[in-house]
Amino acid sequence: MSLVLTGIGVTSGIAIGEVHRLTPGELALPEYHLDSGAIEAELERIRKALDRSRKFLGSLLEKMGEGGGDTARELLESHRLILRDPLLVEATCERIANERINAEWALVKQTNQLIAEFKRVDNDYIALRREDLEQAVNLVQRELADQPATLIGAQVPHQLDRTVVVAAELGPAEMAILHQRRVAGLVTEHGGPLSHSAILARSLEIPMVVGLHHALDVLLEGEPVILDGHYGAVMAAHDESLQRHYEDKREVSQRRRVDLRRYLSRPSRTSDGLKFRLFGNAELPEEFQRCRDDGVVGIGLMRTEYLFMGDQVPDEETQYRAYRAAIEVLDGRPLTIRTLDAGGDKLPPALAVTQGPNPALGLRGLRLSLAVTDLFRQQIRAILRASEHGPVEILLPMITSIDEIRQARRLIEECRRALQAEGLTIDPELPIGGMIETPAAALTVEQMADELDFMSIGTNDLIQYVLAIDRQDELVSYLYEPTHPGILRLIQKIVDTGRQHKLPVTVCGELAGDADAARLLLGLGVTDFSMPPASLPAVKKSLIEADAARCRKQVTRFLTGNSHHQTGQDLLQALNGSS
Ligand code: PEP
Ligand code: MG
Repeated sequence: MSLVLTGIGVTSGIAIGEVHRLTPGELALPEYHLDSGAIEAELERIRKALDRSRKFLGSLLEKMGEGGGDTARELLESHRLILRDPLLVEATCERIANERINAEWALVKQTNQLIAEFKRVDNDYIALRREDLEQAVNLVQRELADQPATLIGAQVPHQLDRTVVVAAELGPAEMAILHQRRVAGLVTEHGGPLSHSAILARSLEIPMVVGLHHALDVLLEGEPVILDGHYGAVMAAHDESLQRHYEDKREVSQRRRVDLRRYLSRPSRTSDGLKFRLFGNAELPEEFQRCRDDGVVGIGLMRTEYLFMGDQVPDEETQYRAYRAAIEVLDGRPLTIRTLDAGGDKLPPALAVTQGPNPALGLRGLRLSLAVTDLFRQQIRAILRASEHGPVEILLPMITSIDEIRQARRLIEECRRALQAEGLTIDPELPIGGMIETPAAALTVEQMADELDFMSIGTNDLIQYVLAIDRQDELVSYLYEPTHPGILRLIQKIVDTGRQHKLPVTVCGELAGDADAARLLLGLGVTDFSMPPASLPAVKKSLIEADAARCRKQVTRFLTGNSHHQTGQDLLQALNGSS
């Protein structure tokens, strides 16, 4: 019987190897007062420690070259920036001089003050910024304690391809070193699926389990283990048959991944010659990059809520920079920016708007933007300014009436004129589309189509509202049925209307990223699919191998009651070749 430990799997994939425990010693962080004559030397000490830390990050970046992944590079760059930030550097130096305290103490005090400001806001985005600060400061503390981070390199073997590294937590600098040494898998005691190390592991495709409490107490140096990133499990495996089983499984999944990726370079055409288009859903810089590398036509959905997750509403300039950065990565491919879809299950703390008794039916999406027009104007100005750098489309969420679209269009036009008066030239024909994700919008889609330049079907919300199941409520999740005839009829109606009005229609909800459901959508007439980058290979394979005319026939028969398939699930199985 093997010991099985479970944490949170953040990258699927299997690693088989021996444990290497990474346990950097406790850092000595003394606290003492200084004589006035010692202040200058102490300032020199911290400046040198900062300088060595920045150089360490610089040398990692250099070694990383092209193969390290953009996310890793960005994180190391951001740590270098933190170590130049006056809020940290100047303020720490001032504490040394004014409070006459040693460098370690001043650094801890200043860091704690900054963290206290972060802590007032409890969300994942801010948690990442806090993590950045702590990791960057840790590099300086190591230098001050004469245990520099370069020692991490000396602490781990050079060849790690049969090694699973176990640590309390891992920062980007450590991740970069481990990646360079081809580590097989990673386990950390702390961290969640959105921590930086998890994001990095996904981007570098290293199998990883995080949040495995007491891993360092239980897993022994040199012990053979199997890490299953899909299930978040780590098995201490002394049993040969289990090892063989997982070696086979790893081989099959590696072959499947390589196999699936081959489809990315194939023409986007079904087996009977119908053209389709694949777009990406992306928010983070590494997702834009991944979408581009995987050959998307453009970004079908950039949700902008994450920009608003801090304790302050991002100003126009901050938003402009984020949109422009995405446009630059896309290098000429169109970027669909959805205006803030706050409210419902995603109300950023920065927006002091009271939630009504039923947030899913309350002031969310475009309703909120039209209620707080300053916020909307600021976002639109940022989007329009960014549109000078590449093709952009604006997508309006949660519309229920044409009056909302008209109001939004008026505000967008006002912003465009104001920017024109400031000397900018913004395309007056910049496409404005709408999310069709409420029953009202779907049922009146002909009128909607008259007011819009393109439509995007938000199946996540459409299913929630049509089937009256709160997408957050686990108690009714058993009712979640994307193949419900009510949903299928509405999708078909939207797609047909789009075709009649010559408007592009994309599906950007989770359904588009499901390889089996993609054939159902194809049967409903959908040819534009937008999904998270990880779903692209499997969906593309499914569509390339599909017979679009046959899918269409089967779906039509099902909707007209002329099919022997009793349920939507039977239909899905038949479309995917198992009935
Ligand atoms: C949707 O509703 O399908 C959608 C794509 O938007 P979100 O999940 O952000 O509401
Ligand atoms: Mg939605």
